[in-house]
Amino acid sequence: MSAFDVVVIGSGPGGYVAAIRCSQLGMKTAIIEKYSTLGGTCLNVGCIPSKALLDSSHHYHDATKHFADHGIEIAGDIKIDFEKMIARKAGVVDQNVSGIKYLMGKNDITVFEGIGSFEDATHVKVAKADGSSETLEAKNIIIATGSKPSSLPFIKIDKERVITSTEALKLKECPKHLLVIGGGVIGLELGQVYLRLGAQVSVVEYADRIIPGMDAALSKELTKVLKKQGMKFYTSHKVKSVERNGDNVTLQADNAKGETITLEGDYALVSVGRRPFTDGLEAEKAGIKLTDRGVVEVNDHLQTNVSTIYAIGDVVRGAMLAHKAEEEGVFVAETIAGQKPHINYNLIPGVVYTWPEVAAVGKTEEQLKEAGVEYKAGSFPFKALGRSRASGDTDGFVKILADAKTDEVLGVHMIGARTADLIAEAVVAMEFKASAEDIARMSHAHPTYAEAIKEAALDATEKRALHM
Ligand SMILES: Cc1cc2nc3c(=O)[nH]c(=O)nc-3n(C[C@H](O)[C@H](O)[C@H](O)COP(=O)(O)OP(=O)(O)OC[C@H]3O[C@@H](n4cnc5c(N)ncnc54)[C@H](O)[C@@H]3O)c2cc1C
Repeated sequence: MSAFDVVVIGSGPGGYVAAIRCSQLGMKTAIIEKYSTLGGTCLNVGCIPSKALLDSSHHYHDATKHFADHGIEIAGDIKIDFEKMIARKAGVVDQNVSGIKYLMGKNDITVFEGIGSFEDATHVKVAKADGSSETLEAKNIIIATGSKPSSLPFIKIDKERVITSTEALKLKECPKHLLVIGGGVIGLELGQVYLRLGAQVSVVEYADRIIPGMDAALSKELTKVLKKQGMKFYTSHKVKSVERNGDNVTLQADNAKGETITLEGDYALVSVGRRPFTDGLEAEKAGIKLTDRGVVEVNDHLQTNVSTIYAIGDVVRGAMLAHKAEEEGVFVAETIAGQKPHINYNLIPGVVYTWPEVAAVGKTEEQLKEAGVEYKAGSFPFKALGRSRASGDTDGFVKILADAKTDEVLGVHMIGARTADLIAEAVVAMEFKASAEDIARMSHAHPTYAEAIKEAALDATEKRALHM
């Protein structure tokens, strides 16, 4: 029987990063993955393929809608080779998953392909595709089994016409009318991909606004911009049935007045969230506690109720984000090594990779109001920036919320060009407990989109933005 200091179950961004850090810290490490490629949801059917399609469709959108503004005329038709676009995405995924395989080898991590399940608190069985199995002994075990798309009880996902994000990333054709159930990050990103490629896209959302977890101002601006691009929204609508008839899908939903609307499409994307995945893990054999919702229960050290078994990423509480899973992977590895790591969960940024991009960190205005915190707000629109005018990306703004007395930055919310990258400045500033004035007094290169952060900070500090 092979014995390890640490066995990691699941090779997503939580699991593979945990394995690398364990190995860096001198532990003999193994990782178990049930699929033939490493990288989990994020690399195979999540972050990476969705961004590849967002980028490809963005190029098409620019070519058809914006090149002419820049004086670029295209002679003849611009056509989409959909098959090639999907194949390119698959190539991007291949490069990334091969990269993880390389990193496992480089760090001397033993990779087992198969389903990992507990025999007891120190033994994990790997059931392989050829029917054979092997038992590994481990001093410490990290559960990093991630999540799967969730659905509504009355929806039958047939993976052909009623689909999840996984199928939406490998369709054979562009839908004519895509019905998106759920106006969260995944629904909007994939909805925008197909909107740009020519589909009609209707988003049905139960809450009264899209991206309901983010600051309401971001939701309002994103709705405005996506509507301008042609996306249709049915907020405050409760979906009550989704039926497939041949190549068509019929969706019925009740609005706030109790009236029923009917939408006809050719595909329905169910993007109502994700659920922690522990199927086949046989966690009960190790005595590990799960909540009613299947979340693996952990304490502040990400330890389960069995002290040598840890859990990280989507399978535990908190935001279902790749970078949160990665931080937790490092945290657990360092904890096992006897270090005292720390994660500031308040400073895990959230991003929507639509265009304009949406990014945020810290508290929303709604959260500050609810907590009774006295704050001041400053904002700056991208349309007032030279860089935005030069590129033509004038939608959106940066909003900074700072403590009314101390001026400490409590939340930064932005929508606009490249905000997915810009949010890193806010994370650094807040990690070092910057005041809005600190940011306002730092030089920001001109012309850049980042100047909007400085201007919003000036506005928050003393209402003295320079270019507004
Ligand atoms: C369409 C889409 C787009 C997304 N975009 C982003 C984004 O842009 N940014 C972002 O931060 N997040 C994004 N996410 C979320 C992100 O993918 C997840 O938060 C992240 O992958 C979670 O990492 P994880 O390691 O916890 O689990 P996962 O990535 O889900 O990996 C878990 C792995 O464990 C394996 N596994 C499960 N059970 C077993 C078992 N018993 N034995 C062996 N292996 C097992 C699974 O096969 C899987 O490979 C997106 C998700 C989706 C679906």
